[in-house]
Order: sequence, then structure tokens, then C-alpha cells
Amino acid sequence: MSMISGLEGNPAVRGLQINYYFICRTKLWFFSHNIQMERESELVKLGRLLHEESYSREKKELIIDDLIAADFVKRKDCLEVHEVKKSNTMEEAHRFQLIYYLFYLKHVKGIENLKGFIDYPALKKRTEVSLNDEDVEELKNVIKDIDGIIRGPPPAPQRKPICRSCAYFELCWI
Ligand code: SF4
Repeated sequence: MSMISGLEGNPAVRGLQINYYFICRTKLWFFSHNIQMERESELVKLGRLLHEESYSREKKELIIDDLIAADFVKRKDCLEVHEVKKSNTMEEAHRFQLIYYLFYLKHVKGIENLKGFIDYPALKKRTEVSLNDEDVEELKNVIKDIDGIIRGPPPAPQRKPICRSCAYFELCWI
């Protein structure tokens, strides 16, 4: 893994890894080891459709260094970075994914004057996310922790409500 400047030697991770860290360590490990399940679950399909239909007019994905893939950006008085999600049940995961994007854009790419937004089209809700020192400290710890998890053996699955819609369901439970 390469290192991120501004994160004192911490490895570079992908935005989705930050998201999965908060959702499920087993999922994080599978994803980080390039283990994929081919068949897309109906819920994942539905989520993608909803995502595409709701935002088809505004968006082009912003992809940076194969680590960041923000759903769309808008230039206003600042650069708005948007992530689109179908429900807010995993809000902390969504928030830290976006904090990582803002951190990366600012400290690795030198882009200032940023605002982050999580859009929930089905809920007609938008949450603003900004960078603060406390979150950056936690982000550093999360990145360190992710590195430790993926260097170790696969974490044992723990049953939770999202397992039913997880692409790795068969791998964990069948
Ligand atoms: S099925 Fe459940 S335990 Fe397994 S990876 Fe998915 S969320 Fe994690």
C-alpha cells in the first residue's frame, strides 16, 4: 500500500474500504482481498437503479487515484462533493467515506474550499459533512485499523440485519 501525505505514514485506502470498516469487518476483508461475488443481489440492483435514475441529470463520477469515487461534484462558491445513498441507516459509514474524500482532496491534491454532502434521494434528505480536527484524528485511527484488519486472517462473520442484502451472504452463511 502507498502512503498518504498528511496522514503520517498511514497507507492509502479506497473510499469503499472506509465505508465497509463501519459496516462489517468481514466485508472489508473480502473486498480488500479482491474477493467478489458475481451475482448482484436484487437489493444492490435496486439501489443502483434508484441512484442512477435520481441523479442521471446532474452527475458524472469523480474518480481520483483509483481511491476516491465521489458520485458527483458541483462548482458553486466552493467545490461541492456529493455521495448518493439509498438509506441513512449506515450514516456514520457514509459520513466517514465522505470525510476521507474531503481529506484526500485537501491534503493530497491541495484543493481548498470544499463542502461535502450525502444525498438520500428516497428520503428527500441531504446531510452536509465538513472536515474538523476530531474527525481527521478518528480517520487516521480508522485507516490504521483497516491496515491491521486486512493484514490479518478474515474476521469471523457476525450476523446483522444488513447480511440479508449483502453480496457476500452465501460466503458467510450458506
Ligand atoms: S454477509 Fe454479513 S457478515 Fe458477511 S460480509 Fe456481509 S455483512 Fe458481513
